[in-house]
Amino acid sequence: EWAIRFDGVSKTYPAGGAGTGPAAVHDLDLDVRAHEVLVLVGPSGCGKSTTLRMANRLVEPSAGRILLEGDDVTRVDPVQLRRRMGYVIQNVGLFPHRTVAQNVATIPKLLGWDRKRTGERVEQLLELVGLAPERYAKRYPHELSGGERQRVGVARALATDPPVLLMDEPFGAVDPVGRRRLQNEFSRIQRELGTTVMLVTHDIDEAVRMADRVAVLSSGATIEQLASPLEVVAR
Ligand code: ADP
Ligand code: ADP
Repeated sequence: EWAIRFDGVSKTYPAGGAGTGPAAVHDLDLDVRAHEVLVLVGPSGCGKSTTLRMANRLVEPSAGRILLEGDDVTRVDPVQLRRRMGYVIQNVGLFPHRTVAQNVATIPKLLGWDRKRTGERVEQLLELVGLAPERYAKRYPHELSGGERQRVGVARALATDPPVLLMDEPFGAVDPVGRRRLQNEFSRIQRELGTTVMLVTHDIDEAVRMADRVAVLSSGATIEQLASPLEVVAR
């Protein structure tokens, strides 16, 4: 049983407006199993972010297809795609002029949830990520520490209880001690919810700590080829 399948996926970014550049991702076949944490590692520039961003259609593949629970992602309505696949990035990208609660409520609002349902969900999520709602709901992002912002990012991404979470260097901007704590807490949350996670990192320690499986995206001069999922790395 798998949650995401990359089937012969390639991405070539246009080079300077004319012609084609080298492939950022080349003929990638990869299955992410339901409920697992698959960590994608590899040197900078090897195509990790591109791979994630093709899954949620921030980047369109040049070739191949990507299936989310059997559905070709190009055929899924964009708002439904957001509902089914959360996305967490380094430095979060919180909306600076919206409170913590409003940030977490972003996708529920897009989906037209009513106030009561949204409010309850926001409260539940803030509790889940360890931010007491009465202390944090009304704050603005600049009133939070880096680690707290990252927690809000996780809460926002989990708002619709998505089966899949894409995480791109999610704890990269957090100090080492805070990072360790976030990793542990996130692992607990992930197990509790059974979320399928595809996580990109260049931090090998993070990969070993968090992964059920590790896939290595290797960097060549031009062509990057994903070795099929490598060994199971025990938690
Ligand atoms: P990683 O996440 O492993 O660091 P990326 O997926 O960000 O790698 O980038 C892979 C390659 O694609 C790099 O050579 C990068 O410069 C290039 N690239 C990434 N995004 C773009 C873009 N929007 N336009 C052109 N080239 C890009
Ligand atoms: P808006 O006026 O844009 O709805 P609000 O600040 O009232 O902004 O709230 C945004 C969302 O966050 C709402 O759906 C609301 O239910 C929820 N929310 C606001 N404050 C809290 C809080 N203290 N605890 C839980 N949820 C809250």
